[in-house]
Amino acid sequence: MRLLLVEDDPTLRDQLRAGLQEAGYAVDAADDGRDAHHLGDTEAYDAVVLDLGLPLLDGLSVLRRWRDAGRAMPVLVLTARDNWSEKVAGIDAGADDYLTKPFHMEELLARLRGLIRRAAGQASPVLRCGELALDTRSGRVTLAGQAVTLTSHEYKVLDYLMHRPGAVVSRSELTEHIYAQDFDRDSNTIEVFVGRLRKKLPPGLIETVRGQGYRLAVV
Ligand code: CA
Repeated sequence: MRLLLVEDDPTLRDQLRAGLQEAGYAVDAADDGRDAHHLGDTEAYDAVVLDLGLPLLDGLSVLRRWRDAGRAMPVLVLTARDNWSEKVAGIDAGADDYLTKPFHMEELLARLRGLIRRAAGQASPVLRCGELALDTRSGRVTLAGQAVTLTSHEYKVLDYLMHRPGAVVSRSELTEHIYAQDFDRDSNTIEVFVGRLRKKLPPGLIETVRGQGYRLAVV
């Protein structure tokens, strides 16, 4: 999953980026509202963490512009302590959730997992497909209760597919959602990850839809 992190405080931004990357997210970061707006308008994100007090263009305006343009990705806004009116304004501008500074990384991660699974129409933190289960909280994958060991890229591909059972996902969509913007992307590597995943999973679970992409079988 790929996130946009918008925060102008360099210390907090670096800290958050490191925490999010450690949790397995591909992260693009912006430090002003104009950059943030452009990235959110043109790139594919599974969720956005948006500070409201930003240079050049404030966070509320950024959010309103995205929503006016039909950009529907989940957005979590970061608000100042005890500023209830900022929370109301954020939610009314189209935010899906908020966190008050200062906050614990664990809480941010839990809220993001919730937003991402809800956006994909998933209510449970444990995604299941037949005997295969992926726990989004621990990053643990099991097959009939037995642990399946995956590399971080294999996990990212499976995580994305398991959020969308039955949907056809193209290689370019997978590429966009597992790599950050500055990464040297090559959609051929997706084929390699899928090939390796298939060897670890029951046959037929990841279907190839000719000319379109991959689909997780609904079992
Ligand atoms: Ca700020």
